[in-house]
Amino acid sequence: MLARAPADPFSLAKGLDRIKSAGLFRTRRTITSAQGARIQADGQQYDNFSSNDYLGLANDARLVEVVQEAVSVYGVGSGASQLICGRSRAHAQLEEALAAYTGRSRAVIFSSGYLANLAVISTFATRREDVVVMDRENHASLVDGALLARASLRRYAHNDVAGLEGLCSGNRTLVATDSVFSMDGSIAALPDIVSVCARRRAMLAVDDAHGFGVLGENGGGALEHFSLDQSRVPILMATFAKACGVMGAFVAGPDDVIETIIQSGRSYIYTTAMPPALAAAAGKALSIVMQEGWRRDKLHALVDRFVRGAKQLELPVLASTTPIQGFLAGSATAAVKGSDYARERGIWLNAIRAPTVPKNTERLRITLTAGHSDDQVDRLLEMLAQLKKQLWP
Ligand SMILES: *Cc1c(COP(=O)(O)O)cnc(C)c1O
Repeated sequence: MLARAPADPFSLAKGLDRIKSAGLFRTRRTITSAQGARIQADGQQYDNFSSNDYLGLANDARLVEVVQEAVSVYGVGSGASQLICGRSRAHAQLEEALAAYTGRSRAVIFSSGYLANLAVISTFATRREDVVVMDRENHASLVDGALLARASLRRYAHNDVAGLEGLCSGNRTLVATDSVFSMDGSIAALPDIVSVCARRRAMLAVDDAHGFGVLGENGGGALEHFSLDQSRVPILMATFAKACGVMGAFVAGPDDVIETIIQSGRSYIYTTAMPPALAAAAGKALSIVMQEGWRRDKLHALVDRFVRGAKQLELPVLASTTPIQGFLAGSATAAVKGSDYARERGIWLNAIRAPTVPKNTERLRITLTAGHSDDQVDRLLEMLAQLKKQLWP
């Protein structure tokens, strides 16, 4: 007779109880509408201040049409990884458009930003004696890339460029940073970081997931905003899942950088290519991002409106000039209470807790998009003013 497996050898039930009693239990809710500034879940409508759909393109009719057309040509699945037979003409065209748009020699497409960052770090820091230096608040995918690379990982305090320089002592050093930090909306001091990398002969990788499409005159992102070409920032990574409203990601840079990723990036080689229809949609999104500057103008006007209102109402909002704004709750319980309070009033806001952010800096994260109206922002501000009274009477 087959022996029975022990019921719970890893004490999972206990572990889950610990997560619950620390106020860190995460629940998932099911959305029943398209993505947008208004969403529906469980029969309720919400003003959505939690998505990364910065330019309001996730449900754009033109992208829907491009996907429908491309599906009729390419079908749905991509069939295999890009090196086997999964790279379609739609992928190739998107790579060329990206290289031109970002002013880099070449670009390579990934199925997601998470996978792109794994490749960026693990492809270049390949030896145990290599050093990877990162801002403490970098996105988890960059940290995971360093774990995969088994290089030594050193982290400096958020935006502490002097701290960064002190850590750049390796023979081969890779510095990686978010451009716009996803949990507080602050912008990395990229020109200073570039100078440190030049002095210390370090390679620099910038994750522009939240800057691409949002910053820069033409939406080219943080590197356009700071005028940093590939001789200064050789590795640029960004996603199609945020301002472009689609899915997938890319890395752009000099020929050798891109070719090395193609030849040895495990998270490039060993995963299925993004569907060609989505590559076509990302290409269309790119041209909309470039041409429709009014979307960025509207977004920045809404950010100004929110920041001015928050100041007037003396809300505990973290300093940020980007669409990512943080309402500091100060504890996991307060953040969850705030998120519930907002939801009961028809506003969708997520509680961001440790370990995603440092303990005692738990917050409600607010993301503004070009799809929002002035009225929605005003209602959000009123709700936050009420919440402040509830939390700290
Ligand atoms: C969203 C995000 C990623 C991951 O991108 P996906 O395409 O969602 O996997 C990586 N880095 C940053 C800074 C992000 O915000």
